[in-house]
Amino acid sequence: MNSITKVDVLVIGAGPSGTIAASIIKQAGLSVQIVEKMKFPRFVIGESLLPRCMEALEEAKFLDAVKAKHFQQKDGAKFVMEGQVCDFNFSQQFTPGWSWTWQVPRAEFDTTLADECVKMDIPIHYETEVVNIQIFSDHSVIVVKTADGNEQKIEAKFIVDGSGYGRVIPKLFGLERASSQAARKTLFCHLTDPNRSAAVEPNRITIFVHDPATWIWVIPFSNGNTSVGYVGSPEFFEQYEGTPEEQFRQLIQAQSELRDRFGNAEMLWEPRTLQSWSVTTDTFYGEGFVLTGNVTEFLDPVFSSGVTLAAVSAQLAAHLVIRHLRGEPVDWENEYMKQMMAGVDVFRTYVNAWYDGSLFNIFFAENRNPEIMSQICSVLAGYVWDDNNPFVKNHEKNVRTLSRYLTTQKASA
Ligand SMILES: Cc1cc2nc3c(=O)[nH]c(=O)nc-3n(C[C@H](O)[C@H](O)[C@H](O)COP(=O)(O)OP(=O)(O)OC[C@H]3O[C@@H](n4cnc5c(N)ncnc54)[C@H](O)[C@@H]3O)c2cc1C
Repeated sequence: MNSITKVDVLVIGAGPSGTIAASIIKQAGLSVQIVEKMKFPRFVIGESLLPRCMEALEEAKFLDAVKAKHFQQKDGAKFVMEGQVCDFNFSQQFTPGWSWTWQVPRAEFDTTLADECVKMDIPIHYETEVVNIQIFSDHSVIVVKTADGNEQKIEAKFIVDGSGYGRVIPKLFGLERASSQAARKTLFCHLTDPNRSAAVEPNRITIFVHDPATWIWVIPFSNGNTSVGYVGSPEFFEQYEGTPEEQFRQLIQAQSELRDRFGNAEMLWEPRTLQSWSVTTDTFYGEGFVLTGNVTEFLDPVFSSGVTLAAVSAQLAAHLVIRHLRGEPVDWENEYMKQMMAGVDVFRTYVNAWYDGSLFNIFFAENRNPEIMSQICSVLAGYVWDDNNPFVKNHEKNVRTLSRYLTTQKASA
């Protein structure tokens, strides 16, 4: 990179939100560059996608490259509690749209998207970290630090901040805000899966309810390995002692379905921990910049919404950036922030209802109404902006009312 580069749009981060935004902006004929702190491939958690993100991957022209990787196809999601099963199949969802997606090791998936950007002549500067930003009336100056410690400057007309957990602009401009979600912790690992063939529907993503406040993800990959993670309160994990590997072995033993399948599995690396990941920010846009993906708001992993919200926000933001740079007026508050928040708020209702147990009443009811389940299925497929769906339009009221009704019905049975 030269010491001062000029570009229409600078994208921070080569995760899904950064690469999708960069591709759509580039296709409109604008010049784009991506700066990425890490060397790719790099690990990041978030391996189960939702069908709605396929629309964004398609518009970014990434679908063929991802298909060629033969990742594990995902046709739905299964929830299991004390032997009861609630199985969602995306082909039965209410909203017209994609009925499948993938379960992906993110290092390989994100590298695939980034490589497609490079093929489109979008330069990606790896191991280059944004350390400062100055915003002027018609451009910004972004200071980046390269792996050898040198600082360089980039002048951009607009910045898309897709820095994920790096949260570059919220941190630099003091926009960070605490999330309303309780602090949660995860311990997770990639494992060999020697007993996969003996499992029922072995390739399907399954969420096990371990206890009302703790759940487990099992995400099988097409490479034969499987991602397994426990999510619970920080206190839950305190009862397990020893190294992360010893703790993880004890956790596997504590859940019968996992004990049978992963009791003799090999861990591919030492289990990792993340804690208190829910964050939000005062605003999703400002003079000369827009935030996309995890930088905006990340709620909780239980419904695999992260990459899809990252992809959809990148898609929407890219279109607005293009219009802005063409001199057309953009109402960022209504066209971007409120629009994105509407989807986030739908997921928030379901996340809250999961953790307070009211969703269990619906998922594990004896007689589930197929029409209602197809409407909820669309939410779990990521179609959270479809106002024709009563479980989107009146999400909070309908989830609460249905849960209460089913509880009363069960009590009187
Ligand atoms: C426990 C857990 C489980 C999850 N499971 C799922 C799941 O199953 N499905 C799902 O969809 N989501 C899941 N998520 C969420 C998912 O991880 C994120 O939503 C998703 O990765 C967001 O994508 P992104 O493009 O916004 O950011 P990222 O994928 O995080 O990419 C951001 C990029 O920006 C780079 N960067 C950071 N700082 C700088 C800087 N200063 N300069 C330059 N570059 C920088 C980073 O290196 C990174 O490569 C999970 C999250 C957690 C915590």
